[in-house]
Amino acid sequence: MMNKYIQKRLEMIQENIIRSCQKSGRKSEEIKIIAVTKGINVEKMQEALSCGLNRFGENRIQETEQKRTSFQEEPIEWHFIGQLQRNKIPKVVEYFQYIHSLDRINQFQALEKRLELSKEDCYPVMVQVNLTGKETQAGLEKQDVIPFFESLHLYRRIRVSGLMTIGPQGSLDEIRRVFRELYQIKEEVESKKYSWITPTLALSMGMSDDYPIAVEEGATYLRLGRCLFGERSN
Ligand SMILES: *Cc1c(COP(=O)(O)O)cnc(C)c1O
Repeated sequence: MMNKYIQKRLEMIQENIIRSCQKSGRKSEEIKIIAVTKGINVEKMQEALSCGLNRFGENRIQETEQKRTSFQEEPIEWHFIGQLQRNKIPKVVEYFQYIHSLDRINQFQALEKRLELSKEDCYPVMVQVNLTGKETQAGLEKQDVIPFFESLHLYRRIRVSGLMTIGPQGSLDEIRRVFRELYQIKEEVESKKYSWITPTLALSMGMSDDYPIAVEEGATYLRLGRCLFGERSN
């Protein structure tokens, strides 16, 4: 019964991405899908992989620890998209090639230390920004972004290569405003030409309910769960 379920959904998503690209004059090759696999079992993840989805997004270390052994031989790119506690950083570095969700200097300090131990360089991360006005959501507030980037020059082993945000639950206009604002922040940060970040920043924005708007507003990574796999059981 699962046969082709994900494939069909992926085809629909790809059509929507192409349509959004046409509207906004973008190339669909610029947009990468991260299959958000939290709460999704290994069998479905195998199916996703067979559809060509080889970027998995997870937010729980233990769950990832259990699932990743099934994919040891596969060319998976693992993206950490959850809130990161400092004591989890060693495992996150071990399991994930990318972190999307940093918003505190002490995370950078701990990550830099860990990378120093293993003599790793250029570990890619994104900085999470909260543009919803809701204090409960993770991420830097808009006015703190530039000062935050100024202070990142201390962390030479970390390669800051993007910005991430979670869209609001509001109207389409409100969602669009948030994504557009993240794009403007990206342009502002890039214009500073900091030598300690990549010259162009990726934008991780857009989830199941709002990814077409995110594409129109410049997203480069979409984080898609339910629209690929159906509702999660937990
Ligand atoms: C769960 C999650 C997603 C995926 O959400 P869907 O609505 O299932 O597409 C994307 N980003 C983050 C940070 C998440 O926690």
